Amino acid sequence: MNDRRTPPPLPYGRQCINEDDIAAVVAVLRSDFITQGPTIARFEQRVAEFCGARYAVAVSSATAALHIGALALGLGPGDRLWTSPNTFVASANCALYCGAQVDFVDIDARSYNLSVALLAAKLESASASGTLPKVLVPVHFAGQSCEMQPIAALCEKYGVRIMEDASHAVGALYQGQPVGNCLHSELAVFSFHPVKIITTGEGGMLLTNDSELHARLLRLRSHGITRDEQVMAEPGAGPWSYAQVDLGFNYRMTDLQAALGASQMNRLAAFLERRRALVTRYNKLLATLPLILPWQHPDTNSSWHLYVVQPDPTRTRVNRLRLYHGLRERQIHAQVHYIPVHTQPWYRDLGFKPGDFPVAEHYYSGALSLPLYPDLTDEGQTRVVAALQALFAG
Ligand SMILES: *Cc1c(COP(=O)(O)O)cnc(C)c1O
Repeated sequence: MNDRRTPPPLPYGRQCINEDDIAAVVAVLRSDFITQGPTIARFEQRVAEFCGARYAVAVSSATAALHIGALALGLGPGDRLWTSPNTFVASANCALYCGAQVDFVDIDARSYNLSVALLAAKLESASASGTLPKVLVPVHFAGQSCEMQPIAALCEKYGVRIMEDASHAVGALYQGQPVGNCLHSELAVFSFHPVKIITTGEGGMLLTNDSELHARLLRLRSHGITRDEQVMAEPGAGPWSYAQVDLGFNYRMTDLQAALGASQMNRLAAFLERRRALVTRYNKLLATLPLILPWQHPDTNSSWHLYVVQPDPTRTRVNRLRLYHGLRERQIHAQVHYIPVHTQPWYRDLGFKPGDFPVAEHYYSGALSLPLYPDLTDEGQTRVVAALQALFAG
């Protein structure tokens, strides 16, 4: 191929960093604290206020957040955690870290989120057999909230605690309210990985309205260590005192990361606006192609982390693999979200097998995430659309 005519590669997602973001990080580098300083609390407060949650706890990744979130909810050996099979492995792995068991609730064929009907049926049978989960992790796939009101009603009925995996959903709304407000859950988790809505490089956050969970999360984030009044009042205690009361971790975020996160929060509204504009344009430009486009539940307003299409087998014989390769040949790096977690080798070894969650498996067989990120230009998007048109025509 003629190099001069090779267009720049288009990833499916990427960070959007400007000079303000860079200046914010540099300012921390020049300050006294590059970790355990004041910027963490500032970032936490910023996100908590944005979501309308009482507390936020910044951590080193969403994976770390899911881990200490599950621990804070009391998940341990002998317990069960349920999540969606259509997610990144971290949503399920957090249960295994705690020595608990994992099971899945299959997805809704339209929203690709955990199915409320299947959850109701599974809870009923688990209740009958005494195998109810302690924790449910609904995943707001692609940035579209799960149906939290009916999910919370079911979990309330059966005594199941809820931790939302909102990794995709910073800035998303459910029934007009921000995801992360924990109106229908005890905890919500955000990811700040570069492909997500805002980034801190690596990073995550837990939101909660519960002061006890908040205190436990702060301890678990930092070695299980506390310096509360009781510790300081112990005989022989001094200003140096601390007490390890839990087996915690070092899951702290650095102030460098928090500065980037706080700066990115200033840009969140613009990011969301650009993502939504690109989605409107995809919807319009792809409407005549034999593709199943993303369906949105009327209660939701997605943050649009992902734009997932599927070739419609009733209208075309061009399959996902052909599209994937055809896009790659044109320097367009589409991705697939997600390989159903229960089909991963680690989970097969735990007894899961293909066929266990057929809706997620069927969805996966056709799913393709097209490029979508704030810096994607109209021209770049037009290239994606033209490539798809050519692939279906040819
Ligand atoms: C990205 C992601 C995670 C993990 O996030 P990290 O911050 O990379 O640990 C967990 N769950 C879902 C649904 C994700 O997309």
